[in-house]
Amino acid sequence: MTQPFLPFARPDIGEAEIAAVTQALRSGWVTTGPVTQRFEQAFQAFLGDEALHCLAVNSATAGLHLALEALGIGPGDEVITTTHTFTATAEVVRYLGADVKLVDIDPATLNIDVAAIEAAITPATKAIIPVHYAGLAVDMPAVLAMARRRGLKVVEDAAHALPTRVGGELVGTLGSDATVFSFYANKTMTTGEGGMLVTRDAALAQRAKVMRLHGMSRDAFDRFTATRPSWYYEIVAPGFKYNLTDIAAALGAEQLKRLPAFLARRQQLAARYQAALADLPLILPPDAPAGGTHAWHLYVVRLAEGAPMDRDTFIERLYAAGIGCSVHYVPLHLHPYWRDRYGLTPAQFPQSQRAFERMVSLPLFTAMSDAEAERVVAAVRAVLA
Ligand SMILES: *Cc1c(COP(=O)(O)O)cnc(C)c1O
Repeated sequence: MTQPFLPFARPDIGEAEIAAVTQALRSGWVTTGPVTQRFEQAFQAFLGDEALHCLAVNSATAGLHLALEALGIGPGDEVITTTHTFTATAEVVRYLGADVKLVDIDPATLNIDVAAIEAAITPATKAIIPVHYAGLAVDMPAVLAMARRRGLKVVEDAAHALPTRVGGELVGTLGSDATVFSFYANKTMTTGEGGMLVTRDAALAQRAKVMRLHGMSRDAFDRFTATRPSWYYEIVAPGFKYNLTDIAAALGAEQLKRLPAFLARRQQLAARYQAALADLPLILPPDAPAGGTHAWHLYVVRLAEGAPMDRDTFIERLYAAGIGCSVHYVPLHLHPYWRDRYGLTPAQFPQSQRAFERMVSLPLFTAMSDAEAERVVAAVRAVLA
């Protein structure tokens, strides 16, 4: 009866990806180059919006940093985001010397509470970073309408949201100032490490493009002569080193082709869990509302009131049954840095705190077999019996 341990996640990398990476390695050009440019074009085509600028970067964290930098966020400014996220969402605000205002979540969706955003706005507030938690969209029409009314910028953390739809429209095309996707190893597609910054704002894109690579500009010279030598560049700002390599982009371009199939598989696995776990003392994750698509990056259950054990015991028993799981996330208000910098207490975030204490992310990844999904179902049922 000893079956191999089922990890929480595993990347789904096929022969096409391996061939494409091999080709990039053999090409003689391994850093940012033609493959990265084609990957950006393919990503724009996937989003289906010719007005979008797509900038490949070496992480979503880098993309969020670049977007906020290009929007001019700096010391004295405040940026509002959810406490129920990964630290990357918020740390980029601190990179720029601005301050983070964390707010609570809606317990139905685990997404940022839109009313709480409005209540947290002060004269210093400059931007909002909604996070599409687990792949379920934030109520973006409400967030964008409020942001416009209050003169705030919106940068979507779409690390979980490829592809997520709201009212039929893909996240990335919803009209915020910028949207950032992650290609980290366990996300819905991967480049090992990587991300994509997406915006319709040409000035934002231009700034992010320069800052992505050391603050280096060739355009400055182009203004004066069309015949600049190819070796010439100018440094216009102390930029960053956030470019994606052609090796990673080769992997990304192949993963992107498989994204529709990846989504179908995730939807299939989520539907199986929704049906097979419905009668247990669990709060199951909500499906996307009509017209929406849930990307199912994460499948997060919460132990209900009548559950026979606490969250930690539940996870221990699942591990003992050979099932890896995780918790997304230890909310930011509990981490020493965020807690101490802003004097945060759990009482300020009752919904996130309560969800955290009862939540478990079950394995859901495209490389898992039906038999492995049934092992998860059987183990959860047995542990809660
Ligand atoms: C993974 C993740 C990030 C960071 O992505 P990287 O590509 O690893 O930088 C940011 N926000 C959220 C919500 C994430 O899950």
